[in-house]
Amino acid sequence: MPAADFNMNELHWLMDMFNTVDVGLVVLDRDYKVCIWNGFMENHSGLLPSAVKDKDLFDLFPSIDEKWFRSKSESVFILNNRSFTIWEQQPYIFRFKNYRPITGKADHMYQNATFIPLTTTTGEVSHICIIIYDVTDEAVNKKELEEANSKLEQMSRTDALTKLTNRGYWEEKLRKEYMRIVRSGGCSTLLMFDIDHFKKVNDEHGHRGGDEALRHIADLLRKTLRETDLAGRYGGEEFAVTLLDTDHEGAHIFAERLRTLIENSSIYFDGKQIQLTVSIGFACFDEKFDRYEKWVEAADKALYHSKENGRNKVTAYTDL
Ligand code: GH3
Ligand code: MG
Ligand code: MG
Repeated sequence: MPAADFNMNELHWLMDMFNTVDVGLVVLDRDYKVCIWNGFMENHSGLLPSAVKDKDLFDLFPSIDEKWFRSKSESVFILNNRSFTIWEQQPYIFRFKNYRPITGKADHMYQNATFIPLTTTTGEVSHICIIIYDVTDEAVNKKELEEANSKLEQMSRTDALTKLTNRGYWEEKLRKEYMRIVRSGGCSTLLMFDIDHFKKVNDEHGHRGGDEALRHIADLLRKTLRETDLAGRYGGEEFAVTLLDTDHEGAHIFAERLRTLIENSSIYFDGKQIQLTVSIGFACFDEKFDRYEKWVEAADKALYHSKENGRNKVTAYTDL
């Protein structure tokens, strides 16, 4: 093959590759006018190379953050260095639709990009080339994984039946509050309550009736709480609440409100009415609690005093 033909062939192949390669290739001059625009860019933008040639990039794509894009490109022009952007910082440069069937959830294409300086024979950077990579699959997978992890984390802290914080997570929060008070002072109160004669509810209405009753109590508790209070399901039919910045008087008001709310409410299950009461105990933080567990024991003691003294009652640890 004569050398000239070979060169023509090579050029032809290069052009073919340039237009079919699965990345975007754009060349811009010093005034951000488009000089080169490959097949990938044409297919995704719907704009022919002839339609963009010598046009201002920011007129063609007003959605590009011009200030950010210029500052990114200027360092390439001035320093003759490559520069990169990743989708986590900037989801895309060119807003293209996402057509991928598997990652169809994303409505636009996520892009990574490389900015390359193009020099003249005298070494000046006269143009820059931008390579656009479609990273939608990677981005969507990563986002889905993050969502799944955060859901799992949420689930690992939550009691499935009542949707309250489970015991492990609630205790962790109590321990933190205990450490905070020991360090910085303040008054918070720990309140515990247990449903009275709950076995009877299960016996009379079945386990599903009992479950419904537990959900009902959790709902009433949620309605009574302030945003800062930390409520959890401590055990089977036993609940715990840390009332932040709440003294004896405030805790007593809260406890009585909760007790009467539960006493006066009814649950309807399978056409039958379920009435419940709870026994409550609470303990304000005291310096003599040398571990947070002692705080729990104090509230528990008060709770059992309420049980032993007729149930449907509130007892403060300091009254024992
Ligand atoms: P007391 O007034 O002394 O607290 O009486 P009680 O019947 O509530 O006593 P106890 O604490 O011994 O019984 C708790 C019952 O709660 C026993 C258990 O079967 C039931 N229970 C614990 N967890 C669940 C649950 O998730 N669902 C249902 N339906 N019942 C539960
Ligand atoms: Mg009980
Ligand atoms: Mg119990």
